[in-house]
Amino acid sequence: MVKAVVGANWGDEGKGKITDMLAKQADIIVRFQGGANAGHTIINDYGKFALHTLPSGVFYNHTTSVIGNGVALDVPVLINEIQSIVDRNVPTPKIKVSNRAQMVMSYHKLFDQYEEERLGKKSFGSTKSGIAPFYSDKYAKIGFQVSELFDEELLKEKVVRVAEQKNVLLEHLYHKPLIQPDELFDELMGYKKMIEPYVCDVSLFLHEALKEGKEILLEGQLGTLKDPDHGIYPMVTSSSTLAAYGAIGAGIPPYEINKIVTVCKAYSSAVGAGAFVSEIFGEEADELRRRGGDGGEYGATTGRPRRMGWFDVVASKYGCRMQGTTDVAFTVLDVLGYLDEIPVCVAYDIDGEITTEFPPTYLLEKAKPVIEKLPGWKCDIRGIRKYEDLPENCRKYIEFVEEKIGYPITLVSNGPGREDIIYR
Ligand code: GDP
Repeated sequence: MVKAVVGANWGDEGKGKITDMLAKQADIIVRFQGGANAGHTIINDYGKFALHTLPSGVFYNHTTSVIGNGVALDVPVLINEIQSIVDRNVPTPKIKVSNRAQMVMSYHKLFDQYEEERLGKKSFGSTKSGIAPFYSDKYAKIGFQVSELFDEELLKEKVVRVAEQKNVLLEHLYHKPLIQPDELFDELMGYKKMIEPYVCDVSLFLHEALKEGKEILLEGQLGTLKDPDHGIYPMVTSSSTLAAYGAIGAGIPPYEINKIVTVCKAYSSAVGAGAFVSEIFGEEADELRRRGGDGGEYGATTGRPRRMGWFDVVASKYGCRMQGTTDVAFTVLDVLGYLDEIPVCVAYDIDGEITTEFPPTYLLEKAKPVIEKLPGWKCDIRGIRKYEDLPENCRKYIEFVEEKIGYPITLVSNGPGREDIIYR
């Protein structure tokens, strides 16, 4: 049994909490894409944690946490993260890192920073974690795979070749210090030392686990709209955020993924640049940002204030469709309890044409939101455990959204804690 937990929107939908919750029944939790550029916030008995690389299931004793081949592996970040949770009395997690994962190098982060500086105002709002340069190199076939750390002869030759190529850009485009091949080699050997105890033939491990009937959870990062193919290109991330990619980024057969839980937030938020049709501004946005998430909508990695907006039916319907959703987890609903009326973006107006189908970026830039207002419920719904106990207007909001997006909302999250969940 393989379940995927993925995002319908721009990320920050609350996937961490849902994964953490579903991990209770799982045996193995796998990160299959992305890197340390986004974070999951998890609140449990050990405290509050912002994880960037470790899967959300690390807090359970019975689970194995896997970094799949599709991940941009930042070795020092991973090692520090393991240390930081162990320091806070979480039992040492069982961790496996794919021998086919590639590593984020220190120069990837520098390239990210140099490129943002070069672009100035036209920058993409990168978190400067080296993700875009990392994936560019992976596909240009000049990345470093974990397995390569175990062939030092090959590595000694490769660092020279890679440095040569990178140094052209460093010298002529960015005017920055050059990469020394021997320092690059030393960096890699440092990573080898750190990562060696965790290295594993992950696809084989998962193959065996599936044969034994184990339950595997795939944990996605960001959401559909940040997918490089199906998202708001070019304001996207560099690895696929779709459940389908879970098969590749973990190394399992696609037909094994039989449950796709798409996490969808009861309002919208986004980080970085790019079209955001239902975006709100000023005091209206500030209030939602302040009340949002758990302690405000600020980036888990960067602390940047998130851009805020109302629930977007068009984007979320598309977001769920592209994931191949079997279940929607509708999150952070409790936050909307302060509103007299809740605006929802039900369609886009693009040059006078009304549509509910999500368009490519050039049209998205022109889209104006068509807003419908639903009555608020004006109370705190945290602590409620049964669907029938939710206020009528709150149930109406959920059912309205469900009808509009066309996928079943089977989980409703009404607070940041593990137990703040209503099954339908
Ligand atoms: P992720 O990247 O999709 O895991 O999302 P984040 O962790 O960045 O953002 C979700 C934030 O909302 C975190 O601070 C969670 O603790 C919090 N959160 C998750 N679900 C709920 C919920 O139902 N209600 C409230 N109030 N906060 C929630």
